[in-house]
Amino acid sequence: MGYTKKFRIEPDSKVKLDTFDPSEKGGYADSNAAENEIAHHVANLDELQALLYADGRYSLLIVLQGLDGAGKDGTIRHVFNGVNPQGTKVQAFKVPTPEEAAHDFLWRAHKATPGKGEIVIFNRSHYEDVLVVRVHDLVPKKVWSKRYKEIRAFERNLSEGGTVILKFFLNISYEEQLDRFRKRLDDPQRQWKISESDYTERKYWNDYQSAYEEALAETSTDYAPWFVIPSNHKWFRNLAISSIIVNSLRDLHMKVPAPRVDLDDIRRKYHGAEETEKKVDASGKADAD
Ligand code: ADP
Repeated sequence: MGYTKKFRIEPDSKVKLDTFDPSEKGGYADSNAAENEIAHHVANLDELQALLYADGRYSLLIVLQGLDGAGKDGTIRHVFNGVNPQGTKVQAFKVPTPEEAAHDFLWRAHKATPGKGEIVIFNRSHYEDVLVVRVHDLVPKKVWSKRYKEIRAFERNLSEGGTVILKFFLNISYEEQLDRFRKRLDDPQRQWKISESDYTERKYWNDYQSAYEEALAETSTDYAPWFVIPSNHKWFRNLAISSIIVNSLRDLHMKVPAPRVDLDDIRRKYHGAEETEKKVDASGKADAD
């Protein structure tokens, strides 16, 4: 539906990132035009998370990948800013600790996956093990090339257990990345984040693009699809991602479980006759906070 179909990588398809426009705005003139829609999705997401918890059959795993400056942090801040923190967790994936490095590459990812009713957002993920690891030759090709299969099996296993998996590649252009780095250079609040390696990594741009193309083609499946999100415009990125998440959760047709007690009995016993009479208002809806 809408952006879901438009930006999804179909299973077994070839991916050429230069055929995707990172500046796409989906027909909107500017951020003002999309603002209401984004706010609407963000509010819906809060309600859907509450329903995810009440329904208790599913969990949601969001994977965010992209080059430095692509907007992984900004996406988390904007898309999930209305969601109840009790039901949502962010897991960042940094250079593996000695303990993590001593285990198989999926160990730290598996430990962080969401339980029933929860949303977990991976800020970077197990995909680093076929991306940075490949670009910088951190393990031999014969090791990383087997990982696609292992990732597919891992994600299938999660999916069969009730986890909805949505994976977003935040697609920015080479020029936009430099522009974002320059803005950071001029922003006293963010200068501390700058490291020279952000700039030196740019010489691997094409290697990263190839690594992403292969990873997306190898691991976009019906049960764990990849989406290539145009991300030069932050507001359009937020709109597309929030819309895809909301639509995927709606497709689950979740339900609030039936009460486990006899409501009339409870009303009679603990609220008295008077309360029982005004149990529903004229519209038939009980008060909600
Ligand atoms: P951010 O995600 O905000 O860029 P950092 O600046 O701390 O956070 O970057 C995390 C770094 O960890 C990235 O350079 C990423 O490539 C690296 N990393 C993550 N997972 C692995 C891994 N499995 N092997 C090697 N490096 C990794």
